[in-house]
Amino acid sequence: MKAPFFRRKFFKISAIVIVILGALAVAAYDFILGHSSNRQIAENVHLVQFRNLFDQIGANSIVIEADDRLALIDTQLPLQARRLKNLLQADFGKSVAYAVNTHWHPDHSGGNASFTDGAVIIAHKNVSAVLSRPHLGIALTGPGSRHEFKAVPAEALPTESYGGRRALDQSAVNIELVHYPNAHTDGDTVLFINDGAVVAMGDIVWPGGFPFIDTHSGGSYQGVLAAIDDVISRIGADALIVPGHGDPINKQALMQYRAMVENTTAAIRSQMSAGLSLEEIQSAGLADDKTFSWQGGFVTEPEWIRMVYESSLPQS
Ligand SMILES: [Zn+2]
Repeated sequence: MKAPFFRRKFFKISAIVIVILGALAVAAYDFILGHSSNRQIAENVHLVQFRNLFDQIGANSIVIEADDRLALIDTQLPLQARRLKNLLQADFGKSVAYAVNTHWHPDHSGGNASFTDGAVIIAHKNVSAVLSRPHLGIALTGPGSRHEFKAVPAEALPTESYGGRRALDQSAVNIELVHYPNAHTDGDTVLFINDGAVVAMGDIVWPGGFPFIDTHSGGSYQGVLAAIDDVISRIGADALIVPGHGDPINKQALMQYRAMVENTTAAIRSQMSAGLSLEEIQSAGLADDKTFSWQGGFVTEPEWIRMVYESSLPQS
């Protein structure tokens, strides 16, 4: 009989089409998510990086192996958090006991909900406060733009807040959390791992470019300088400094970075003192720095001038 034969064939073809579409959807999903890498950067410390579909590095996550548990620094965007969780399971086979958000930006705290089933999620108290209400911030699509962020659901909030300093209870590795006020945001945590052998600085430093200051979230260049100075005073010459994005740098590179921030902010401040407007300073531009190239960084020169300018205004 013809009809059942065609129906069978139709169902068979439909099944094949569904399988192909499913495979394409998975491939497209993977393509959008980009790819991840996991490498050891110090004893018991790994760096997990995600690259997006344009091959730009997303936020860093740092994984610290201590005994039979993991501590995780930064939980990625929600879309990447599941992939991060799978990677941790596959590569370490241990559960996350602690997850720390270096600050509230979604690429550092957006994956919290994926870890609340077993981990204590820790952040500075200003992070919990800002995430729990609608708030302004700098949009990830452009550092100059204001963006209104919604309050995150309760299950994506840090489960523990601290102020000042806090030590993590990990017997094999010592981890100290230190809050640096008004730097990249008003809730930045820097983590000193094994007495500062590795330092996770979050987005306070952006190697290869100007700092990115969220002036809508209480960030300021003065706070960035103060944080870098304090970190420099606390670490040895062979310390590894891990930024929130990109590859680790050494202490000497951090000191060069600090000099660039100092020099460019001093130049902008002196033009402000001479009575130039923001637009005039932006169009005059900064003199080339022979020791530091900021070309190609995430923050453009006019944006950096604006961030310094806004940081210098009296806070209302
Ligand atoms: Zn950030």
